[in-house]
Amino acid sequence: MMRLPYFAFHAPATVREAADLIASSPDAMLVAGGTDLLPNMKRRQQVPRTLVSLRRVAELKELTNGNGLTLGAGLTLSGLVRDARIRERYAALWQAASSVATPHLRNMGTLGGNLCLDTRCNYYDQNYEWRKAIDFCMKKDGAICWVATGSPKCLAVSSTDTAPALLALGATVVLTSVDGTREIAVSDLYQNDGIEYLTRRPNEILTTVRLPRFDGWRSTYWKLRRRGAFDFPVLSVAAAVKCSAGGMVEDARLVLGAVSSRPVETPAAAATLVGQLLTDDAIARAAELAAKPAKPMDNTDFNLL
Ligand SMILES: Cc1cc2nc3c(=O)[nH]c(=O)nc-3n(C[C@H](O)[C@H](O)[C@H](O)COP(=O)(O)OP(=O)(O)OC[C@H]3O[C@@H](n4cnc5c(N)ncnc54)[C@H](O)[C@@H]3O)c2cc1C
Ligand code: SF4
Repeated sequence: MMRLPYFAFHAPATVREAADLIASSPDAMLVAGGTDLLPNMKRRQQVPRTLVSLRRVAELKELTNGNGLTLGAGLTLSGLVRDARIRERYAALWQAASSVATPHLRNMGTLGGNLCLDTRCNYYDQNYEWRKAIDFCMKKDGAICWVATGSPKCLAVSSTDTAPALLALGATVVLTSVDGTREIAVSDLYQNDGIEYLTRRPNEILTTVRLPRFDGWRSTYWKLRRRGAFDFPVLSVAAAVKCSAGGMVEDARLVLGAVSSRPVETPAAAATLVGQLLTDDAIARAAELAAKPAKPMDNTDFNLL
């Protein structure tokens, strides 16, 4: 049986208190549902000495309907899936949240935790003894990348389902710390590095996701995975199009997940849809172009190539 290491635990009631706590203990990590972080701690992939829980922070669980939708990062994925406004207006997010893990994990797992999900790799998602037997790897405790031994950076994969959907929907996130608050595009939350995959500063809390009004747009999210009942994606595609009354595409966004250390936008592929009717041929042409920047390594669930 794998046991959790010892850690101090704080359960603040406000974002302000949580921000103070995370700023005052450099080895602390935030925990929301714990469905990613706690298994990682059992495997000693992440070993924070202090956990700052966001579960009691009521302001992170708010959903407000204004000029678009504002979602607290502490909303559970099940909560998002139950919301008719998300299902009707932001189908890509609804489909992505519905396809994360299992109902039990969606009941605990939050939107913020899903966006900050650790990157994944077959050489990393193993217990301590397994990783020790290969002398670890660059992402934790080691020096080399076993996926590409000449690689100067870690190639672990971004496997979050909701991030590609939120990119396609043009969402932003709000990050708060003792130093203040900033709002950035979801795309700018990520960078292509398996270790430093987030641009979030260590003392920042992701508090809110803002979805713009999406009038005239339609969106969708599709996910390839080993088992349909639950599994991380080995490829996911989020698509959003804005069509005229006659069905002509006026604007389009296509985003791939699970093929890199960050979600991959494919603007050239999306641009081929503009000015076209959304026929099978037009979609096939865009799909062919979208596949070009996708160069997945053989380090996740199964090999696509
Ligand atoms: C068997 C299994 C299958 C899974 N399948 C999938 C899947 O198909 N797709 C998928 O996307 N995920 C999957 N997951 C991962 C996980 O369950 C989800 O991603 C979940 O949404 C994580 O949310 P959480 O609240 O539990 O995150 P936590 O485990 O609490 O946190 C995850 C990370 O986010 C950070 N964090 C959490 N909240 C915040 C915040 N508000 N601000 C800043 N940082 C924060 C934590 O510090 C930690 O680094 C799976 C997990 C398991 C165990
Ligand atoms: S991609 Fe390389 S460095 Fe990153 S987790 Fe995998 S083996 Fe380790």
